[in-house]
Amino acid sequence: CGIVGYVGAQQPSGRPLEVAMGGLARLEYRGYDSAGVAVVTLGGADLATAKKAGKLANLTALLEAEPLPEGTASIGHTRWATHGAPNDVNAHPHLSEDGRLAVIHNGIVENFVQLRAELEGAGVVLVSETDTEVVAHLVGAAYRATGDLTESLRTVAQRLEGTFTLLAVHADVPDTVVGARHDSPLVVGLGEGENFLGSDVAAFIAHTREAMELGQDQVVTLTPGSVSVIGFDGVVVEPRRFTVDWDAAA
Ligand code: GLU
Repeated sequence: CGIVGYVGAQQPSGRPLEVAMGGLARLEYRGYDSAGVAVVTLGGADLATAKKAGKLANLTALLEAEPLPEGTASIGHTRWATHGAPNDVNAHPHLSEDGRLAVIHNGIVENFVQLRAELEGAGVVLVSETDTEVVAHLVGAAYRATGDLTESLRTVAQRLEGTFTLLAVHADVPDTVVGARHDSPLVVGLGEGENFLGSDVAAFIAHTREAMELGQDQVVTLTPGSVSVIGFDGVVVEPRRFTVDWDAAA
């Protein structure tokens, strides 16, 4: 339902988690039934997640009881369940089998039953009832094969039917967040030595008003100092830049 992404901390710090939680709070107006975050730690050592059914306050309480390590990038999600009950396990992020890749998703993957059967046929054990988890396993497997996170998300996005905004982070590339969209919004926020993603500008308006709107069927790759966008066909595109005006931010 609501999506936030952040990359930028030069040293592991609490900022990625703060940005993700702050963005989710600003997206609360959209309504949701669960929330979750993932933080990637510099050095490629770790990817840590926390997720909880119910209000954002429940996730905040969990993070106080079991703090996440400091990191360099983050993703955050508020879920409006379409496939699978609104419980802790079905909350996003969802992880690849090796636990090194995390995915969040707005929308519906219409062909998840076939994709799930394909994964189960290959011996993958899925832990949630969501349509989203198949994406984590597929992108995780593609990354293991190619070592290229953007290409992995692009090729998997091409196989998905339905509507989606997807963000992914991988423990091997802690300076990168990737996103893809099809019939569901995704906006980039441009910072100084840091960059943001949001399902709408409210996700990052506390940090920057400089933004880029992604077009249909595009994949974005964010690092602290760069934003690159390609189509699902792999062709490089130049997204439209704009400055968020006060009305849009109110
Ligand atoms: N279809 C996904 C789920 O049920 C994502 C729902 C959403 O947009 O929050 O988990």
